[in-house]
Amino acid sequence: MSGRRDKSERRWRGVAVSDGAVTGRVLRIHGGGGRAGIYQVKLDAAEVGREVRRYGAAVRLARRQLLALKKRAARTLGEEHAYIFDAHLLMLEDRKLNDDVEAVIRTESVNSEWAVKVVTDRVLAVYEEIKDDYLRERSSDIEDVTRRLLVALSGESMLGRRLTEDAVVVAEELMPSTLAELDFGHIKAFATDVGGWTSHTAIIARGLGIPAVVGLRDFYRAARTGDSVVIDAGRGEVTLHPKPETLELFTRERQVAKESPARAVAAAEELRAPLRTRDGVEVTLRANVELPVEYDWVNRYGAHGIGLFRSEFLLSHRGSVPDEDEQRETYERLARIAGEDGLTVRLFDMGGDKLSGSRLDAGEERNPALGLRAIRLCLQRPELLRTQVRAVLRAAARGPVDLVIPMVSDVTDVRRAREVIEDERARLGGEGKEAGALRVGAMIEVPSAVLVAEKLAREVDFFSLGTNDLVQYTLAVDRGNDEVAGWFRSLHPAVLLSVRRALEAAEGAGIRSVVCGEMAASPAYAAVLLGLGARELSMAPTAIPRVRRTVAGLELEEAEAVAKECLECATADEVEELVRVRLGGRWPNLFPKEILPPPKTKG
Ligand code: PEP
Ligand code: MG
Repeated sequence: MSGRRDKSERRWRGVAVSDGAVTGRVLRIHGGGGRAGIYQVKLDAAEVGREVRRYGAAVRLARRQLLALKKRAARTLGEEHAYIFDAHLLMLEDRKLNDDVEAVIRTESVNSEWAVKVVTDRVLAVYEEIKDDYLRERSSDIEDVTRRLLVALSGESMLGRRLTEDAVVVAEELMPSTLAELDFGHIKAFATDVGGWTSHTAIIARGLGIPAVVGLRDFYRAARTGDSVVIDAGRGEVTLHPKPETLELFTRERQVAKESPARAVAAAEELRAPLRTRDGVEVTLRANVELPVEYDWVNRYGAHGIGLFRSEFLLSHRGSVPDEDEQRETYERLARIAGEDGLTVRLFDMGGDKLSGSRLDAGEERNPALGLRAIRLCLQRPELLRTQVRAVLRAAARGPVDLVIPMVSDVTDVRRAREVIEDERARLGGEGKEAGALRVGAMIEVPSAVLVAEKLAREVDFFSLGTNDLVQYTLAVDRGNDEVAGWFRSLHPAVLLSVRRALEAAEGAGIRSVVCGEMAASPAYAAVLLGLGARELSMAPTAIPRVRRTVAGLELEEAEAVAKECLECATADEVEELVRVRLGGRWPNLFPKEILPPPKTKG
């Protein structure tokens, strides 16, 4: 079906979310409604039999889902509307289709997703030629069944996402569970249709130093696996089918830009030395960690402990949860890496943009960001919460481990979580298992938490300011929607007022606070945060050297004066201008020319 595709050079502009530029080959990962990955994985001969069984299991799962849907449709809409599912069931059970898929798996030694795509693409091509309108329209049924199969397949292990070549991953959107299964050793860049500065693809790409452009809208549809592509993350540009001249220009530009100061890592001892502003105020930089590839970077980049472990990255593609011992082992490993500076494990932050709630049988939600996400989902699924709490308590017996509750809206969330913690502590005691002391914190990322911050501060041991969500919820801007990226303004006065209020509430109650959203990782934002009263920042390990240099060169007194002026501003534009002039003007050596992250609106 791709034989007559237009292969002339085409360019897209999106949101630039990390640095660097590369050329590569497209590796398309299918969103599939259920965000199932679809790309080719070459199997060893020994894996083929298991893959065929995996396909069989997916067909059975898809069939069960269809039967359930049919029953529901019959109940709510009447029997006459349920017939559509019969057609899908027939297709799913079609011998020829299933035999063909199995044949592709066996003869080409590839994963089921790829085989399903190959076979159904063939069928669709035939349908496209059909003159009869009715029959031609049946192709949408085939697409539906394909989608269902791919989603069902995502319920199985994706074979560790071993990629066959260095790849530019192209997707509509990438969920943490998909990201967690990718083989980062072979990924050169990301390009996604959806997303903004704080979407997870962006956070991971920056953390790993992988070029990424998000918010490309319709790039995914145009690209095909294997296509040649140039990703220029600095400019937020993606070029499909680049001409030889474009490639040549790209290579020349690369040679000039080769020495990237952001990547330079100072000696470990230098990085570990206490960090102070020029006027002597101590600032602590911690690490945000998601993926195992980042674990070793915590110390390499000089982080003082792990300020945020996004534990939902432990979940597999199907949303299955590691058992208590597996989790305990991971937390202990991370606690060893963090050492005496400590590890903060965040309770699973699922739902919303993190992982489809439906994977955990929570059902599709109309408005997931406001739905059953984070602590809400944990409380609704006590077995999930209890298992994690037990694992964290046991790891805390081996080293300093804190637990932080995501998306707290008021003290009730904290009290309910604490009840579970104490309950499990007693239970572990009864089982003769050791449970360590645990400090419990609240993520401050919802306006209601800011408004009751003083009350919350009395009930927790620390605050963790999640500015990504704080911006999203305070300004009512979906953090993953590029259409509204222009409204996602981290320096909006309302956000700054919220940050200050939360920091003051913590200080008033004598508890510590750490800012762990993406703002902490950008020099200009970090300076404003310090001016507002933050003394602990947590960020991707690779961002630490840059922020460290900025903090060491700043005078806090001046940062405070700038922050105070920012709070007087009426708009984000005014704040941004002020920051540019005051910080960029005063310390041109500390802030890059582009003092603030690139503009979010696209040309
Ligand atoms: C945040 O919201 O700022 C945060 C740190 O957590 P996440 O980005 O995982 O939601
Ligand atoms: Mg958050």
